[in-house]
Formats: sequence, C-alpha cells, structure tokens
Amino acid sequence: MKTKAFIRGTTLLASALALAGCGSMVPGGSSGAAPGTASTAARAPARPATGIASAPQSYAASETDRGCLADLGASGARFELLPDTYAAPGCNKLGTVQLSALAGDRSIFGVSNLGPVRCGTAKAFGDWARFGVDRAARQILGSPIARIETMGSYACRNVAGTERRSAHARAEAIDVSGFVLEDGRRIVLRRDWNGGDAETREFLRVVHRSACKRFGTVLGPEYNAAHEDHFHLEGTGAKFCR
Ligand SMILES: [Zn+2]
Repeated sequence: MKTKAFIRGTTLLASALALAGCGSMVPGGSSGAAPGTASTAARAPARPATGIASAPQSYAASETDRGCLADLGASGARFELLPDTYAAPGCNKLGTVQLSALAGDRSIFGVSNLGPVRCGTAKAFGDWARFGVDRAARQILGSPIARIETMGSYACRNVAGTERRSAHARAEAIDVSGFVLEDGRRIVLRRDWNGGDAETREFLRVVHRSACKRFGTVLGPEYNAAHEDHFHLEGTGAKFCR
C-alpha cells in the first residue's frame, strides 16, 4: 500500500535553487547555506516534486504539507510517503514519510532504525544532517559522515511521568544515538559525550548546538539521565534546548 516516491537530489538540483526551507514547519527557518530564499510563489511548483497525487486517498495534504514535501524532495532526501494511521487517542501518523537517505554537500548518507516522521521534522532533520552534522564532521573530524544512527521516531507513548502525549506519538520527534563517519569511525553519544577524545566531544557539542537552531525542542545528555545516550530532536513546539 505504500506509495513509492523516491526523490533523487541530483535530478532536482534546479528545483532546489527555487525551493528553500520549510518556512512555517521548521523552527529557525533558514536552511543555512541553502542558495537563496524562495518566495511563497516559488514554493508551489507547477509539477510537485513528490507523487502527492498518488498518495493514499485518506491523505488530504495541506498546502503546508505539500510545500514541505516538495522542499524535502528538493533537498535531495530519499523517502516514501506513508499512509495515514490513527493508533489510539493522541497517537497518529499523519502526513509522514519514511526517510531512507539524506543529502550532504558532496555525498548521500544513510539513516538507520528510523520509522515514520512528519514532514516538518524530516525536513529539519535533513537540514541539520547536512548543514550541522556533515559539515561539522568534515571540519572537526576530517571525514564526512556515512550514516546517522537513531533509536527511532514514532512511538505511541506519553512524556515520561506525565499524562501528556510525547511528540513521538505524532511522529514529530527523532532520537539520534550516534554517527558513523566515512573513514569508519563510529561516534556514540553514550560513550563519547564525555568519554571521547577532545575533537569528538567538540563535534558532539557543535551538532547539539546546531540542532537547537533547527528543531523546536532538543534534549541531550546534559538534560537528564534518560537522554545520556541520545539527542531527542523535536520538530514542533516552543524552543527548548538542553
Ligand atoms: Zn525522544
């Protein structure tokens, strides 16, 4: 039932120049070094970059969703649209995508263990991966990244110790646990946040700071023990960075 909608950045380079950012969906707005800032008109391409017309019938994509999916495709990310589902009160997957790869400046890299993610969060994730993580890895560690390791995205559950649904219950948060570099090195938050060498520790703090510019809520090892092994990256809500 899944609608394949693989998008290759290389074939959409021209569109990428006309489409920048996922404005209202991405906290912090700007796409870093993305070329140019698109006008509202430019964000509505005559031919959508994704196969939105063939999306499941239940999925009535909003204008914002459509713009976001086009931007995500233009960023070079590879993904497929997923059908909408409602699991329980407060738990749903609406307008989500399955990301399989993200684009850096010079390479495509993988994402492991990631489930459905809402488009706005996926777009923030792709921008962070490219402009925050990959560039920091090359600058600080001397190697591009090959893969971002996650502990997943969607989960029908509450914020620990509360009656409130977690952003994970709406597929609006991603938990990142580590990074694999092209030269083979593997950086793991649980071990390296405090235990890594000086450059690795700097890299992790730089990517944490850059996540705070792109996501609404970012929680890391300094927040509490529950986050000692991952960054919680949440694409919606008020700015909160720990
Ligand atoms: Zn989380």
